[in-house]
Amino acid sequence: MNRLKREGECVSCGQCCRVLRITGILSNIVAQHGTFEDARAYYSYRGIRISDVSRELDAVGLEMDIPCDKLTEDNKCALHPNSKPFICDRYPQFPDDIESCGYSFK
Ligand code: SF4
Ligand code: SF4
Repeated sequence: MNRLKREGECVSCGQCCRVLRITGILSNIVAQHGTFEDARAYYSYRGIRISDVSRELDAVGLEMDIPCDKLTEDNKCALHPNSKPFICDRYPQFPDDIESCGYSFK
């Protein structure tokens, strides 16, 4: 598998800290909700967006507008650099849909 090379740097736009992104297991979601369309309707009632669906990877990308409690007014992380969560420290690992992000991939 070819890995994309990351370039650029964080420009403190803060967008990755304002939206919570979670990857769900498609087969589990269908089992829980009966059908994927039922799950889609339920998520829309709860303000959860479906960003991506991959039957091949059995995965569903979910997004919620839940800003992080540790994001400061000037878009810095209050936990940086010593106790930042692992997932935040490595972000982004692959292309995302945040236009203001200072990172890009080739
Ligand atoms: S812990 Fe820091 S880097 Fe992670 S989402 Fe919160 S503010 Fe952003
Ligand atoms: S979206 Fe990119 S540039 Fe903006 S805060 Fe997150 S890592 Fe930094």
